[in-house]
Amino acid sequence: MEYNIINYNVLKEACNDIGVEFTDEIFEKFDLYKDLLKEWNEKVNLTAILDDEEIFKKHFVDSIKIFNFKPLMEAKTLIDIGTGGGFPGIPIKIIKSDIKVTLLDSLNKRITVLNDVVSKLKLKDVELVHGRAEEYLNEKKLRDSFDIVTSRAVANLTTLCELCIPYVKVGGYFVSLKGPNAEEELDQSRNAIGTLGGKFVKIIPIKIEDSELHHNLVIIKKVKESEKKYPRKWKQITGKPIK
Ligand code: SAM
Repeated sequence: MEYNIINYNVLKEACNDIGVEFTDEIFEKFDLYKDLLKEWNEKVNLTAILDDEEIFKKHFVDSIKIFNFKPLMEAKTLIDIGTGGGFPGIPIKIIKSDIKVTLLDSLNKRITVLNDVVSKLKLKDVELVHGRAEEYLNEKKLRDSFDIVTSRAVANLTTLCELCIPYVKVGGYFVSLKGPNAEEELDQSRNAIGTLGGKFVKIIPIKIEDSELHHNLVIIKKVKESEKKYPRKWKQITGKPIK
């Protein structure tokens, strides 16, 4: 197999940065994932980014930089809320094959795509769920149960806190991948974080070589169980955000 040297090196550099040994097998999985995303994107809207090198940088490297948050390496279970085309859940699973990953999205078409991706990439221990985050939690008794909860590009931080923090086990973390306005979003979410049993830990800026992206990881630790009344219904979560 002939590798695209630019993409190969971009991924290799990112793996070095997160302290993970880079292998051809890792590259081949990401390369196939890229092909599947492009193929499926003709039928199901997954990404506006279609250029190969941009997919590597803006989706794959952006997602795996979450390993700059070191406790992720020790985690056993993770749920990715509003995973869409699989970000960051699938890249995390490729890098750390022993983690049990749940990918949840409210759009069934995207779950169908992920089924194909998971099967073709031969990923084990991945659960695919079609559902709304605020409903699935109670339906399946998943409250306070995951080591790590992730979410990228789904909603504002206050809304996300209500959707995601109730899934995190006490002592675990909610890791939100945010854009350049992470600080402002955090300021507006401080009360929601505390109300939901969380505690803000830090913001980790993500650096992607040769890219204009200014993304941040907002790290929130779960310090006590979330009250049973959260998450509320979507209308209340967005119409009457926790203040
Ligand atoms: N995380 C992916 C990424 O970074 O490319 C997808 C982002 S996409 C803009 C937002 C996704 O969140 C969509 O796939 C949408 O269906 C899903 N979503 C929105 N609200 C949700 C909810 N309440 N529960 C579950 N999924 C939700």
